[in-house]
Amino acid sequence: MRLDRLLANLGHGSRPQVQRLIKTGRVLVDGAPVKDPARHVDAAAVTLDGEALDHAGGITVLLHKPAGHVCSHAEDEGPSVYDLLPPMWAYRSPRPETVGRLDRETSGLLIVTDDHQLLHRLTSPKHHVPKVYVAELARPVTDELVTTFASGTLVLREEFEPCAPAQVRVLDDGRAEVTLTEGRYHQVRRMFAACGNHVEALHRTTVGTWTLDDLPVGEWCDVSERPTPS
Ligand code: URA
Repeated sequence: MRLDRLLANLGHGSRPQVQRLIKTGRVLVDGAPVKDPARHVDAAAVTLDGEALDHAGGITVLLHKPAGHVCSHAEDEGPSVYDLLPPMWAYRSPRPETVGRLDRETSGLLIVTDDHQLLHRLTSPKHHVPKVYVAELARPVTDELVTTFASGTLVLREEFEPCAPAQVRVLDDGRAEVTLTEGRYHQVRRMFAACGNHVEALHRTTVGTWTLDDLPVGEWCDVSERPTPS
């Protein structure tokens, strides 16, 4: 790829801005200054101010979303999960995006990636990627609710297609773990509401084989170099 295009795609500025940057001699290729923006380069051989380029091979991170943050780039919706990531990532092309969304009041595991194949694989209903949530509930879970969730017949308000079967594991009187393989709008909250219960707090622990483990709230960890789970 051309050097100026590479740097622009990685968020270092517009094409004219990175062309000026290259002309300053701060960019080295294989250790030697290169001042020709049109030079075709291997990203791994490029340094800027002595540092390797940030995530030149692409970005995939796990983020522990705090409740109260939105999964949106809009500036008028309050704090955004994108505020928790390095600001320069917003200028990259392709720009890293969340894999699906969590509601403003839902906390837990979000995947952020610029890998569109991965994004598609994790969100397409065809792939049945399991997502695990812990719900705090207003009322105890009944056997009837567990059976209804598992039945594949539960139709949400204003929808026609029944929800895919979902597993419920009761953790205690006020908490249950729910595993879904699809991602409809407010799905967990609406499924409980359809069965006469109410979700008071919701937290996602797992997407596919990725889990939050001990990742602190509001922080992210880099999995870009790890093989992606199937
Ligand atoms: N289901 C919900 O109700 N909310 C989420 O954020 C995710 C799943």
